[in-house]
Amino acid sequence: MRLRNIPGSREVIAENRYCIPETESPKGDWHSIFGNSHPIHIEIGMGKGKFLMALARQNPQINYVGIEKYSSVLLRGLQKLEEEPIDNIRFIRMDAENITEMFDKDEVAHIYLNFSDPWPKDRHAKRRLTSRQFFTLYDKILQKDGIVEFKTDNNNLFDFSLEEVEEAGWKLDAFTRNLHEDKSMNQGNIMTEYEEKFSAKGNPIYKLIASR
Ligand code: SAM
Repeated sequence: MRLRNIPGSREVIAENRYCIPETESPKGDWHSIFGNSHPIHIEIGMGKGKFLMALARQNPQINYVGIEKYSSVLLRGLQKLEEEPIDNIRFIRMDAENITEMFDKDEVAHIYLNFSDPWPKDRHAKRRLTSRQFFTLYDKILQKDGIVEFKTDNNNLFDFSLEEVEEAGWKLDAFTRNLHEDKSMNQGNIMTEYEEKFSAKGNPIYKLIASR
């Protein structure tokens, strides 16, 4: 998702109370940001944040951090938050490749990856958020019993991700190639913006859950 650049979006984000500047990393001290010691769940590539905001409203006992590379996209999420404030959510504008600079060992309980960019060229495989290189980063911030959940409508990216879970030495806890028809995996499913768009076109939604 790459919206047209919105002039001034970086400045708005820098001053917004929901945004944590990448340069002021609370690594190891996230609980002082939220004022409690609730578990931290993150979404990488959150887009406009619809999914994460719905989760945060549903689960006040969990703290949510959304990570998004582009300020123009993240700005849309902030606008929604200003209309309907939520205490247990924060955003960071950053590239996920720097994720270990923002979170300490064992600081994250759950990672969501939704409709991540497919990077179809082989030479860009390591940029995919489900590549073994990214699983190595997740290993550094995720609690021992932590979980990675990934949804996509992209068949090739899904096959690649299944292989990478194994290559990275992680366990595949569950997977489906038709989430919306899978009663148990679809229970409590919150549709992301892209999920709504692609399932309306008739695309099946793939999902995997991985742990160590
Ligand atoms: N998760 C949302 C959804 O399912 O509706 C948005 C999906 S959109 C296709 C992928 C989003 O991930 C884009 O907003 C993109 O900017 C962001 N993204 C891609 N690579 C990223 C990275 N390395 N770090 C942070 N965000 C990234």
